[in-house]
Amino acid sequence: MLRLVLLGRPGAGKGTQGAFISEKFKVPRLVMSELLKEEVRSGSELGETIKGYMERGLLVPDDIVYQVLEKRLSEVMERGFVLDGFPRNLEQAEWLDKFLSERGRSLTAVLFFDVDELTVLRRMMGRLVCESCGRSYNVFYDPPPDARRCECGGKLYQRSDDCYEKILRRLDVFNEETSPLIKYYEDKGLLVRIDASKDVEGVRKEVFSTISSLLSPS
Ligand SMILES: [Zn+2]
Repeated sequence: MLRLVLLGRPGAGKGTQGAFISEKFKVPRLVMSELLKEEVRSGSELGETIKGYMERGLLVPDDIVYQVLEKRLSEVMERGFVLDGFPRNLEQAEWLDKFLSERGRSLTAVLFFDVDELTVLRRMMGRLVCESCGRSYNVFYDPPPDARRCECGGKLYQRSDDCYEKILRRLDVFNEETSPLIKYYEDKGLLVRIDASKDVEGVRKEVFSTISSLLSPS
């Protein structure tokens, strides 16, 4: 059974590859930001609290994140999971270890999607999204048929998160808070490096063969 954590800079392709892994290996995918949004949509008391933080543009405190995660992880424990967007710092990683070991479990591996900052910048700054069908393009790698229009004729726009300053801020947060996890998991013998500078298909191949060998070590 797979219990995976996906680690990597924003723009490293964790979301895309996480979806591939989930589909191919039939394992539930837990994306932290999505779990928080789902909790808000559920209208629960916890959801209301989360909504309050989000609306003020504040980070949701760890103890609330843990409550959401505890519930969802318990639901999928017997089927395994692919975790994306958590842990983001050492304290959260230690929480996850404790949570799993109390249940007699441990992580199978941590996939580190290794890619440099300039590649991430190109990927994120080049992103254009269609207003009507939601399809996304990349100016550099996967250009739309026209600078202004999607294939479907819809207008293209750049998400406000994809501007240079915001991307840099997210990269700084990764470097300061999340990158210590690379050594943390390396020391535990759990870290597997994936060359995430390749294109989507190339990364997928590497990810699939890595997971296959994790499932049937020879
Ligand atoms: Zn479109």
